[in-house]
Amino acid sequence: ASLFKAVPQAPADAIFSILAKYNVDKYYNKTNLTVGAYRDDNGKPWVLPSVKKATEILISNPEANHEYLPMGGLQTFVTAAVKLLLGEDSIAIKEGRAVGVQALSGTGALRLGAEFLKKFYKRTVYISDPTWANHRSIMTDAGLQIASYPYWNAQEKCLDFEGIINTMKEAPNGSIFLLHACAHNPTGVDPNPAQWMKIAEVMKEKDHFPFFDCAYQGFASGDLDKDAYAVRLFVDMGFELICSQSFAKNLGLYGQRTGCITLVTSKKEYSLRCQTQLAKISRAIVSNAPRFGAEIANIVLNTPELTEEWYDNLKTMSSRIIEMRKQLHQYLVELKTPGSWDHIVDQIGMFSYTGLNVKQCRALMSKFHIYLTENGRISMAGLNSKNVKAFAEAIDYVVR
Ligand code: PMP
Repeated sequence: ASLFKAVPQAPADAIFSILAKYNVDKYYNKTNLTVGAYRDDNGKPWVLPSVKKATEILISNPEANHEYLPMGGLQTFVTAAVKLLLGEDSIAIKEGRAVGVQALSGTGALRLGAEFLKKFYKRTVYISDPTWANHRSIMTDAGLQIASYPYWNAQEKCLDFEGIINTMKEAPNGSIFLLHACAHNPTGVDPNPAQWMKIAEVMKEKDHFPFFDCAYQGFASGDLDKDAYAVRLFVDMGFELICSQSFAKNLGLYGQRTGCITLVTSKKEYSLRCQTQLAKISRAIVSNAPRFGAEIANIVLNTPELTEEWYDNLKTMSSRIIEMRKQLHQYLVELKTPGSWDHIVDQIGMFSYTGLNVKQCRALMSKFHIYLTENGRISMAGLNSKNVKAFAEAIDYVVR
């Protein structure tokens, strides 16, 4: 008999299992609103022009090689990433209290953060309900206890602000709260600046530790500073914190696994010591962070003309998505589809939490070949000028 006879089948992934169904659907006009990856108006993946140029510079450099990166990753990239997150004038950077280590995209950065906390600050991590499903797995696989805080008011289709605050007040002092820096996945709903301020005040009173996940900086609003508002507010308020950063969406480097983990403490010497620990953890997991994506990001972030062009590329992506929200909303209003649909335009980022129930989602898939996760989340990037009207009509059909 095999040692592995008793190993059970892993449960299907909520997103990738639906994508698999989409992939085998032979219908000519099927629609994929599952995975969060940007698509252009023709439904095609988009290589950002700034990234394309950076790649050409990289591969035509006769000095380029495939050597290992240092343990903490490509330093010029990491420095630029930390600066991008915290802002040029960040007091934490000036005081040498902000350090970074390159990571395997956002997921790898979250894992490094979780492993670090398990070693040095083993407290319960509160994750939002709902959240990106992988948060749960990353935190628990790293050996941390998790609990949740309510996030979505299903009745009003908005932020459950009271629920967040009450949970923060009730949680044991010094708990860890995993916060989405912007463009909350899956709801597309973020606290407004006044609500962020209140959250920060309560967390301060309770000595809670913020663990930010920043997967959509610049991609959400088109403005890198605006999307980093919450993280910078916490730094300005004197918090120590960790923040994972992904360059999957904002540079379109999904498969290159380009990311960074930033750590801010109250003293330069603490930060420098913590950085060596993060690098040591990374060494045991991946040994060396991947080079290619980091080199590309490094060129974009450290070449002024390409950085400028990248800002434009961010505007192209974010404004196309915002435009799709407007069109979807407008069609639903014109069709007089039962219910209020203002949340579609109020939400931000890659996803919209439509409020459609499981039965309605299944009907969209079986009757209309429109694929989405059964919690009613849609990837806005899957909509375009050719399919948005048909999608609105399909919603209208299934909710009546
Ligand atoms: N956090 C959130 C909230 C996300 O939505 C994602 C991507 N779906 C990630 C982290 C990490 O993505 P990646 O590992 O591809 O950078």
